[in-house]
Amino acid sequence: MQSKKVIRRFPSTLLLALAVGSPAAAYDYNHCVGDRIDWGRTTVDIYPHSGPFPFGSAKRSALEAAFAGWHNAPGTQFRYNVIYDNSPTLYFGDGKNSVFTTRDYDWGDAIAVTLWDPQCYWWGWGDLKETDVIFNDNVTWSFEVNPSSPPSPFSPYNFALVGIHELGHAFGLNHQLSTIATMNDIYPIGGTLGNYNSVQPHSDDVYGNRVGYGTCCTQRDVYASTYTSTSQTTTGRIPGPSQAYAGSSVSFQFSIGNRGTTNEGSVRVQYYLSTDRFISTSDTYLGAATFSMSSGGTSTFTATGVIPANQQSGTYYLGWVVDPLGSIPEVDESNNAVALVSPTLVTQYSSVCGNRVCESGESASSCLDDCPICGDSICGPVESSSSCPNDCPVVCGDSICSSGEDSFNCPGDCGTCGNFDCDPGEDYSCPEDCAICGNFVCEPGEDPFSCSSDCCVPGECQ
Ligand SMILES: [Zn+2]
Repeated sequence: MQSKKVIRRFPSTLLLALAVGSPAAAYDYNHCVGDRIDWGRTTVDIYPHSGPFPFGSAKRSALEAAFAGWHNAPGTQFRYNVIYDNSPTLYFGDGKNSVFTTRDYDWGDAIAVTLWDPQCYWWGWGDLKETDVIFNDNVTWSFEVNPSSPPSPFSPYNFALVGIHELGHAFGLNHQLSTIATMNDIYPIGGTLGNYNSVQPHSDDVYGNRVGYGTCCTQRDVYASTYTSTSQTTTGRIPGPSQAYAGSSVSFQFSIGNRGTTNEGSVRVQYYLSTDRFISTSDTYLGAATFSMSSGGTSTFTATGVIPANQQSGTYYLGWVVDPLGSIPEVDESNNAVALVSPTLVTQYSSVCGNRVCESGESASSCLDDCPICGDSICGPVESSSSCPNDCPVVCGDSICSSGEDSFNCPGDCGTCGNFDCDPGEDYSCPEDCAICGNFVCEPGEDPFSCSSDCCVPGECQ
């Protein structure tokens, strides 16, 4: 694929002033004056063409998965009545909701579009009259109902995932960019959910469906997602940290959401280390935390866990399980766990003996040079007479004018005082050699003849 494929919709008519401003932090519909533009009923006929969607084809299965994504969304009432059709002609404006694929469209950088015919009435109400969903036959599609790995932003594009997005438009939803959502306009939109890469509308999208068409009943569903908002307008997969150490803590981002009809006040999440991308509570436990999740909400948090000290070095996946104890009765229990998309190399921490830093894993017995013992009578490389005078006594003759030495008891290290040379080490200990003429102090070694400005005769000072 070219870098970023846009999934677009085109309103067909300018009869109404579209409220396409920037959507708030949630699902969005267009409105006529005050009325939301939707179908105004909970069942709508839609006609996929049996030409591009022949019976038994992978393409039809992928499209069916997109319909099922909405029909199985928790608490929803809206249903498409799907009728396959082989009409020889289909066109936008025939009053029939069609689904088909074609090369013959001004695609630009779009991979699918939903054509949309809304109507506003003079008394302020609005309705959808027709929506046609079309897919771009010039791009490469994959038709997996459960993709084998979380879809990337690149080709091939998952047909079911894009289908859910377009079918969201077909009942009236606008794009939603500011949260992780299936109605994001850049592929892979919100991505898939859970270990099985389930192609399901996200919490914000399902919430929008229920706002538009009502809630049938109480249904709960929390889920794990390996996607996050990668900018103000895009979503992408969360990478794993490239390295972690046995016995040390590890941090990583993770996303969870609540597609259910109720707020969840206490959602436990447990973090795991796994040898594969399938995460379960039998993997290596790293830690846990508890969150509250509003109905329709999705959030990305930072996990912190500790890798066991005896963990074998190797390549692992970090992951998480939402509601690991099964305390929330959910309509879908298969989307609760997921792994980060890229692996993490776990190794024993390797300290370096001799780098003069006493590191985790080093001790006096394994590396005395870096981790010295003050009092063992050995003056190690990181000890000195000031940090450990017991081990590192002052030595006259080491060319260091140490504390306790001066020009009298160790002239070799601290210079010879009185030789009229300001030797190294004498700056403070031998003012008579290091006197400064001109500082208005008549120092030892100065007299009115050698330094009249400092040692002037009273009354004659200049
Ligand atoms: Zn779209």
